[in-house]
Amino acid sequence: MKSLRIALSVAAIACLAAVPLGVTNTYYLHLIETIMIYAILLFGLDIVVGYTGQVSLGHAGLFGIGSYVAGVLFFHLHLPIWVTLPAAILIAAAFGAVLALPALRVTGPYLAMVTLAFGTIIQILINEMTFLTEGPLGIKIPKPSIAGHVLTKSEYFWLVAALMVLALIVVHRILKSHLGRSFEALRDSPIASDCMGVSVYRHKVYAFVISAGFAGLAGALYGYSEQYISPNTYNFELTILFLLAIIMGGRKSRTGALLGASIIVLLPKMLDDIDSFRLIALGVAIVVAAGCAVAVARGAATVRRVAVPVAGTVLLAAFSYWLDTVTDWRLTIFGAMILFVVYYLPDGIVGFVRNLLFSAHRKALAVDRELAHRQEAVPDAARGSGVLLRAKSVLMQFGGLKALNDVNLEVRRGTIHGLIGPNGSGKSTMMNVLTGIYVPTAGDVEFSGKSLVGLAPADIAAVGVARTFQNVQLFGEMTALENVLVGLHHTFSTGLAGIALRTSRWKKEERQARARAMALLEFVGLESLAAEEARNLPYGKQRLLEIARALALDPQLLLLDEPAAGLTAPDIAELLAIIRKVRDHGITLILIEHHMDVVMGVCDTVSVLDFGQKIAEGLPAEVQGNAKVIEAYLGGAAA
Ligand code: ADP
Ligand code: MG
Repeated sequence: MKSLRIALSVAAIACLAAVPLGVTNTYYLHLIETIMIYAILLFGLDIVVGYTGQVSLGHAGLFGIGSYVAGVLFFHLHLPIWVTLPAAILIAAAFGAVLALPALRVTGPYLAMVTLAFGTIIQILINEMTFLTEGPLGIKIPKPSIAGHVLTKSEYFWLVAALMVLALIVVHRILKSHLGRSFEALRDSPIASDCMGVSVYRHKVYAFVISAGFAGLAGALYGYSEQYISPNTYNFELTILFLLAIIMGGRKSRTGALLGASIIVLLPKMLDDIDSFRLIALGVAIVVAAGCAVAVARGAATVRRVAVPVAGTVLLAAFSYWLDTVTDWRLTIFGAMILFVVYYLPDGIVGFVRNLLFSAHRKALAVDRELAHRQEAVPDAARGSGVLLRAKSVLMQFGGLKALNDVNLEVRRGTIHGLIGPNGSGKSTMMNVLTGIYVPTAGDVEFSGKSLVGLAPADIAAVGVARTFQNVQLFGEMTALENVLVGLHHTFSTGLAGIALRTSRWKKEERQARARAMALLEFVGLESLAAEEARNLPYGKQRLLEIARALALDPQLLLLDEPAAGLTAPDIAELLAIIRKVRDHGITLILIEHHMDVVMGVCDTVSVLDFGQKIAEGLPAEVQGNAKVIEAYLGGAAA
């Protein structure tokens, strides 16, 4: 499999290198060059849009910055390309940090608006700063020269092709590393990312900065390719086109980015001429129909699933022969195609094909079994000696509501501490205060003698407090193994350069993390589901996966928020066994439960909350007989 991939890659690169030899028409050469340049930008844009799930309409602006850094440095200082390209990358990356700032505060349509404004401001600045940019007149840039030799069109094509392949490799490596997993995790659940020690704040900035660096490189290459740059290239339409390329090609895919780039460059040209339009519409219809027929025959897809794409492409082909001229219909056809893809192919073209071909695929897991078992032994800590966590007079106020009112809590090392109470009594709020999601209005939380108040969730996770969530917060599109690997983010120390170079240090970290993740999955009995996407797991298994992921933090304290909610009786028995095993490994637990009976079996101490106040505490049996507790529960049931 791997050697096949390498062979294919080598063949693809050889074909690309041969293009200038075969294609003598400079117009076509330039088209392919433009596709490659756009692809570099789209690789980066996909990090932000596909992986972290943020919208950016500012990438045409970043592209423009890249072009103008190269243009201005050449025009005013006659600097060579090996200076202008790195400068374009660095300066665009710096602007990427600026673009990340709004993404830290707003999401969705608001973020779209702000990033759009960013792009517009960049365009206006380029237009107005005539002393630097020559304004609307634009700047002429000749083909670059290296060591006194001016590159020919073919040589420049090779340069772009080489940089595109390099960009492809670097982006791919980033996205397949712990950094890429962090980007994906923060899209699926920002709260869980933070609580797994993966700072959402920091990783959003990383994603925008890296993405902007690629946009800068693409922009600079574009300047040399066009040999002339002017402000109105970098407009609103271009930024929309970039986003469309990602949506149509397919997010989270380098093939998708290449396909998307080809579509946005070639489609407008194809729609210029009726003959080529007919040919292509017919070709697409045949390929799609044949592909779908094969998929149905192999049982990989149902007739219903492929009906719409087949009908759509066949109709388009028929329509093309009915038309006399295409010019009046260009925008309509383009619009219809976009609507079609957005409605019927939410994962883009590449995603659709991938689902067809590999509908029941399971990735082979490369995990060092021996390493996994060697790491399973966790040292036993002293049990019941000393206080690990102490909450002092915690007050948590939401407007007029005191969700927690003067609550004191002491959790002894190595014990299971139950926290019970009726619905709405403040149990989850307590957990959110302990993990830094809420900052208490008053009071203090001490962990191992140090105050946690004011620390960010990611920092609290780093000192050894892990948790699960009442409403399961898994990273849905990632596999079970990858979910646990996000929890192991803290075991990586390799930086961006190490990731891009795939140093042996990174490889070792990755190998160890995978083995550890597999051992944790085995610990909760999920090893056979390691390659399954988290969102496809049954509910009970999802809860167990959350525990495995939390354990990946190597916590001293594990907080479980209603882990038994919604589970069947056999699932609950399995859960209780796992909870005891966790305790036996020396990890302290706080167990929130709504049901008294579940708590009674495993807890050493139980605290009872009612309307934000602690009304009882003690051994399970004592608490169970407490008059106030019976009243709170019966009162709650009666009301
Ligand atoms: P429990 O987990 O014990 O069922 P919670 O801690 O979720 O209860 O909620 C306690 C009270 O605090 C409830 O009345 C709830 O509505 C309120 N509450 C919790 N979080 C917030 C919030 N972010 N804003 C306003 N009120 C909240
Ligand atoms: Mg709750």
